[in-house]
Order: sequence, then structure tokens, then C-alpha cells
Amino acid sequence: AFEGLAQRLQGTLQKIKGKGKISEADVKEMMREVRFALIEADVNLKVVKEFVKTVSERAVGQDVMKSLTPGQQVVKIVKDELTNLMGGEQNPIQFARKSPTVIMMVGLQGAGKTTTTGKLATVLRKRHNKKPLLVAADVYRPAAIQQLETLGKQLTMPVFSLGTDVSPVEIARQAIAEAEKEHHDVVIIDTAGRLHVDENLMQELKDIRELSKPDEVFLVVDAMTGQDAVNVAKSFDEAIGITGVVLTKLDGDTRGGAALSIRSVTQKPIKFVGMGEKMDALEPFHPERMASRILGMGDVMSLIEKAQENVDEEKAKELEQKFRTQTFTLDDFLDQLQQVKKMGPLDEILKMMPGMNKIKGLENAQVDESQMGRVEAVIRSMTTAERTTPEIINASRRKRIAKGSGTSIQEVNRLLKQFEDMKKMVKQMTNMQQKGKKKMKMP
Ligand code: GDP
Ligand code: MG
Repeated sequence: AFEGLAQRLQGTLQKIKGKGKISEADVKEMMREVRFALIEADVNLKVVKEFVKTVSERAVGQDVMKSLTPGQQVVKIVKDELTNLMGGEQNPIQFARKSPTVIMMVGLQGAGKTTTTGKLATVLRKRHNKKPLLVAADVYRPAAIQQLETLGKQLTMPVFSLGTDVSPVEIARQAIAEAEKEHHDVVIIDTAGRLHVDENLMQELKDIRELSKPDEVFLVVDAMTGQDAVNVAKSFDEAIGITGVVLTKLDGDTRGGAALSIRSVTQKPIKFVGMGEKMDALEPFHPERMASRILGMGDVMSLIEKAQENVDEEKAKELEQKFRTQTFTLDDFLDQLQQVKKMGPLDEILKMMPGMNKIKGLENAQVDESQMGRVEAVIRSMTTAERTTPEIINASRRKRIAKGSGTSIQEVNRLLKQFEDMKKMVKQMTNMQQKGKKKMKMP
């Protein structure tokens, strides 16, 4: 997501960053490009106008113009204001003081309510240690109930359903009673959607809301629908009152308009973003990190969190030891690849690394996942001796490996070269670290 916007903004800011002196005309010129970039990204026009006004005012302030690094100050202002635009601080789930916490999921058909119900339950169990009960309150399509039940089975999470003949309000009532009896500390109600906002739907949702007194009413909207998502958010908020937004399908090639406009238009925070169809693809929304990603400054915090969640600590220690004693083999290399794969799509991971966007060929980060599969195949076609001592891989062995893995000799060569480079780099890094440590110890 956000590729176009990111590219334009980064290009514009690059121009001003290095300037030793900045005039009002420079700021004006820059803001013209920023405005264009935001409009291209489908950001709400009123929001664009306000944003441009705020940034311009701050950028031509005395403290900026007279500072030693005005260009960098302007970049910081843009980042700050992008962060503010998206809501500033991360906005956590509000839990009830007395269990169960009730969360109501609302939104149009196909926005991702049912999927997000499952993902949210996963987050609640994994990160908040909760025991959720999922409630099937979309009674208009039998398939909808089935969909939730299937998710429940997959996640080994209980699903409360009374079929299609009981009203959603009654289902909600009985579900909450069940949760109290069975000590579920969170109840997530998956409601029905329509293709468009309509009166009947709103009335039904209002009724459910009145009865179940939810601690959170999450509006689920599809980021791909751009300004429509913003209008939907406004309608739902006016009709039933929402407490937060979940923006789904941010893994697609959405331009970003919804993410940048919703908060400002509705005054309601984006709490989570959907980054894929799988049950682990829901992330808390961090405005500052998102701004940082859009401006190509990376997102080291998210990367570290992802690594902590996915990388086996024992393995990481073992690996460090191997690097230090230089007994790192191609088997370890393969292990590394698999660990990285667990963290998610490769191009998403790379985008979180600061400066990665500047590396040639990565701008349109079309990192090929099948490439990784080929690397794996090559390594798997080697003997144990070859994996531990790659030096013995001569021409005839290369030929055999290429054939065995269904790749080419060039590919085998490339992998071996990469492996050598990596070893060299690690050696340099450890040397630098050692030197650094020695220096620190000196009086
Ligand atoms: P509902 O009608 O609002 O309950 O929508 P569903 O939960 O049934 O989702 C509709 C479709 O969107 C399904 O195919 C989901 O897999 C897909 N979907 C939901 N969230 C995401 C997301 O974050 N990313 C992607 N790529 N697809 C999603
Ligand atoms: Mg549904």
C-alpha cells in the first residue's frame, strides 16, 4: 500500500532536505507537490487543504528558516503532521472494568467483518491473554454463520450461534449471558452487512448496540474503497456511533486515501489494520510508524516486534555463536531464510528496514518469493559436506547441484557468492564490534 504516495513525497522531500537555506518560495513549491501527492493518493480534499495549511505555517516559522538544518526540520514537520493526521498515538482496545468486554463488529458486506472477528480473537488470545467468545449475529445468510464456525474450528475458539431463525438482538443477549456463565472475558459480535448503508441495517445495529452496551464498536472498512470508506465511516458513526475503525486490505495496492482521511473526518481512531487474509494478519495501527514508512524512514520498531514474535530465541543465540566462531554453514543460511519467511511477505519486511527503499532495484520491491524457494532447492541438493564446507564445491559439483535442484549453474554460483559475501560482512561487523568494545573500555 501507499507506493505512489510514498514515492512522490519522498521525491519532494529529498529535494528540500539538503538545502542550506530555505525561502518561502521553496516551501510553497514543495507544498504544491505535497498537495498533488495527497490528492493523487485519494485523500479527502478538505483534509489535504488543512494539512497543507498546517505544514506551511510551521515550515515558514522563524525557528525553522533560521535553523542550521532547515531542510531536515521541514521533513520532520511533514512526518509529525502526517502522524497527527492519522491520530497521533496508537489507540489501544478499551476493556470493560467488569468482564466480559463486548466488542461489536459493524460494516458493509465484504469489508472483512467476519475475517477480522477471527483475527481480533487471535490477537486478544495471544497478546492480551483473553478467552474470547465469537458470536454469529449475521442471520441473513446461513453461509455467514458457517464461515464464522469454520474460523472458530480453525482457531479452536468457541462460536456462539442460534441459527438463522433467532433475531440478532436475542442472539447477542444470550451470547453475553453464556459468556458470563462460561467465564469468557471478551465477546465479539459479528453482525450482518449490506452492500450499501441502509435504514434497516442501521436500526438493527442500533438495537444490538442498545442491548449489548458494547465497550467497543469497531467499524470494519475496506481500504481499497478509498473515499467511499471515509463516507461509510461517517454514516455509520452518525447513525450508531462507532468507537474505532479497522482498516482492512492494506496489503493490497491501496493508494492510502482512507488511512489518511478517516481520523480527520470522523474524529474516530484507526485501531487496527488488516494486512492479509490469514488469521495472524491483524496489526495495531501506529500512526507514527506508518508515517515513517510512507516517508521511507523504515519502521524498525515493527520489525523488532515481528522478529520477537517469530524468531526462536534459542536459535538466535545459537546463530550468534556460530557467527562469532565462524562456523556458519549453508544449513544455517537455510534456517535463517525460513525464519525470515515466518515473519511475512518478504517485500513487506524489506520496506520496514530504513534506507531499503533507496537500494537500486528495490524501489518497486517486487521481491520474488519463488526466488526463495529456488535458493532452498539449491541448498537441499547439496551433500552435508558441501553445506558445511562450500569451498569443496567445484565445477562438476555445481553442475550436479543445478541439475538436482532444477535450477541453473548461474543460480548456484550466485547463491555461493551471496553466502561468501554474507560471511565477509559478518566478519567485518564482528571486527568492528570488538574494536568498539575495546575502545569503550579505555579510560
Ligand atoms: P464481511 O462480509 O464483512 O464479513 O467480510 P469477510 O470477512 O467475509 O471478508 C470478505 C473478503 O475479504 C474475504 O475474502 C476475506 O478473506 C477478505 N479480507 C478480509 N480482510 C482482509 C485483509 O486485510 N486483506 C486481504 N487481502 N483480504 C482480506
Ligand atoms: Mg461476514
